[in-house]
Amino acid sequence: MFERRFDVVVAGAGVAGIAAAVAAARRGLSVALLEKSVLTGGLATSGIVNIYLPLCDGNGTQVSYGITEEMLRRSLVYGPGEIPAHWRERRNAAEVERFRVAFSPASFTLALDEMLDEAGVEVWFDTLVTGATLEGERLAALTVVNKSGCGVIAGDCFVDATGDSDLAVLAGGVVHTGANALAGWTLEYRQGCNALARDCRVAVVGAATDPEVFEPGISGRTVTESIRRSRRLYREMLKKEYASGRFDRSTLFPLKVPAMADLRHTRCFDAPFALEPGMEWTRFEDSIGLAADWRRSGLVWELPYRTLLHRQVRGVLAAGRCTAAHGDAWEVTRVIPVAALTGEVAGVAAALAVRAGVTPELLPYEVLAGELRGNCRFPLHFSDLGLERPAAK
Ligand SMILES: Cc1cc2nc3c(=O)[nH]c(=O)nc-3n(C[C@H](O)[C@H](O)[C@H](O)COP(=O)(O)OP(=O)(O)OC[C@H]3O[C@@H](n4cnc5c(N)ncnc54)[C@H](O)[C@@H]3O)c2cc1C
Repeated sequence: MFERRFDVVVAGAGVAGIAAAVAAARRGLSVALLEKSVLTGGLATSGIVNIYLPLCDGNGTQVSYGITEEMLRRSLVYGPGEIPAHWRERRNAAEVERFRVAFSPASFTLALDEMLDEAGVEVWFDTLVTGATLEGERLAALTVVNKSGCGVIAGDCFVDATGDSDLAVLAGGVVHTGANALAGWTLEYRQGCNALARDCRVAVVGAATDPEVFEPGISGRTVTESIRRSRRLYREMLKKEYASGRFDRSTLFPLKVPAMADLRHTRCFDAPFALEPGMEWTRFEDSIGLAADWRRSGLVWELPYRTLLHRQVRGVLAAGRCTAAHGDAWEVTRVIPVAALTGEVAGVAAALAVRAGVTPELLPYEVLAGELRGNCRFPLHFSDLGLERPAAK
């Protein structure tokens, strides 16, 4: 057994966990980032989900700022892709015309590694979180396993950025589950295609929800079946292309298949408040930032701080896919730009809570809002950007 202690411990190095770890480390705290794979980026890189969805409302106004914008720009440092030139002039813009990019997953990994190095985060790859120790209702330590054996990582505050709310579950907390459709994003070489880099593109396989396999939530069976079925579907697509005579195995072949299950909704926190469908354009007194709906221009959401807290387990904040949202609202909060945004907020809140010697639910909202408005330069309410709910037609 090995033992270590940090001010802030973040589980999961997807975009949410990285934003959280960087935000806390930039505030001078000791931060550990625990990741079961050997890559940074989670679904965005291991899952080959390579579209950084919009930071703008589709009508020329940027609504999300901070590390999420920094990550979008850095995703282009070591690879191709461009921010659409005229996104500010567009009205009712299609998604591809908005402030978004398509990036190379490997390039993004390099950029994310660099952000973590610069911030001084202690990254633990190949380290699976397997258990949680509580002191009363407060999360006090995580059990991990890696090549050194089993260990205990204690912390003053934790961020659950596992995408699946693993910390909440391991701590015995309630979580909510969602359903999934079969998906698989594969990076392939396709002669004559110039979409991502020369002759490379991301092929997407998808199929309708299968309740037999994709039961709500997550299980060993769900993960295994989703991976096996998506790869089978991709093999069938290749065979069809070869049979058509348009391509052969030297002009069309996979370069990289996803290294994690392409599941969208697994488990989110049972929080004091959850975002529900239809809550776009709702003002929340505890808003921590704004998110644009990537599917339709002109829909903007305020994100309440309460969606990052757990109803029973103290000392842990949700980030990214783990934040509390249901149904259609989860479609908005789960995507890369919003996951990075809630990640940054979780890291800031964790840092402020540790400094104040309190758990995150006792952190005064005014203190958090002051830091988000001041140092992070976040707009917190629609009115900060002069936005208002469009009149009903
Ligand atoms: C099929 C599909 C298509 C999508 N398309 C898009 C798109 O086009 N654009 C977009 O913006 N978003 C898209 N998304 C959503 C987006 O990719 C993710 O929701 C987002 O990247 C989630 O980030 P995250 O950091 O919250 O979680 P994740 O990316 O899931 O990261 C969680 C990390 O935690 C690690 N982890 C998990 N459990 C443990 C544990 N017990 N111990 C240690 N580490 C652990 C994982 O290995 C992973 O690295 C898509 C998602 C899917 C599934």
